[in-house]
Amino acid sequence: GRAAQADSVAVIGLGRFGGSLALELEAQGTEVLGIDSNEEIVQSYNGLLTHVVRADSTKEAVLRQLSVHEFDRVVVGIGTDLEASILTTSRLLTFKRPQIWAKAISEPHAEILAQLGVENVIRPEHDMGKRVAHLVRGSILDYVEFEDDFVMIRTQPPLVARDRPLGVLGLRDQYGITIVAVKRPAGAWTHTTAQTVLYDDDQIIVQGPKNLAEGFSQHA
Ligand code: ADP
Repeated sequence: GRAAQADSVAVIGLGRFGGSLALELEAQGTEVLGIDSNEEIVQSYNGLLTHVVRADSTKEAVLRQLSVHEFDRVVVGIGTDLEASILTTSRLLTFKRPQIWAKAISEPHAEILAQLGVENVIRPEHDMGKRVAHLVRGSILDYVEFEDDFVMIRTQPPLVARDRPLGVLGLRDQYGITIVAVKRPAGAWTHTTAQTVLYDDDQIIVQGPKNLAEGFSQHA
C-alpha cells in the first residue's frame, strides 16, 4: 500500500464540510487522500487534492486497500447518511493508527460517535450557530471558543480599557482577562505591551474564561 506521509490526512466524504476541509488542508501543504462514493464529487476534486478515490468507506477491506490504516489522521465528513458515518467510523476504530475526527449532524449522532470511542467529534453547524450568535448580537466581531470555556474574542475596547496604558489599568486583576493584541485603524495586528494605550476605534483580541471575556467585551 501507499506509505502515508507524516503530514498527510485521509478525508472520507467530500461533501460541503469534508470538501472545504480537504481543500484547506491541501492549501496549507498537507497531502490529502480524498475518498467519496459519489463519482461526480470524486471527479470535481480530481487534481485539487493529492489523491482522490471513489470508494465505499463502510467496507473495511476498501479502507485497508487505500492504506487508510497507515495514516496518522483521518476525518470522516459523512453526516447525512448516518449508517455510513457509523459504519465507517467503527471500521476506522479497529485500526490502531489514525487519530479520528468525525462530523456529527445532531446531538444523538455526536453521542453515538463519542460512545464508539471517537475522541474528536465535530459539529460544524451547531458550533457555527453558537459562534454566529455572538456576532449577531453586535459587540463581538469574532469569537473562538476552546475547550473548558476558554475563548478569544475580537471586539472594540470598552471604555474601561481606553486612554491609559494597559500596564496601569490592571485589567487582568480586575476583570480576569488579557488583551493580547491590538489593530489600529488601517494598521496591522500587533501584540500589546504594558505601554499600549487603546482608543475607541481600535480592535482588540480579548482572551480569557468565557463568562469573563464576554462580560468584559460587553462592558460599557
Ligand atoms: P455535507 O453536509 O458536508 O455536504 P454530507 O453528509 O451531505 O455532508 O456529504 C457527505 C459526503 O460523503 C457525500 O459527498 C457522500 O457522497 C459521501 N459519502 C456518503 N456515504 C459514503 C460512503 N459510504 N463512502 C464514501 N463516501 C460516502
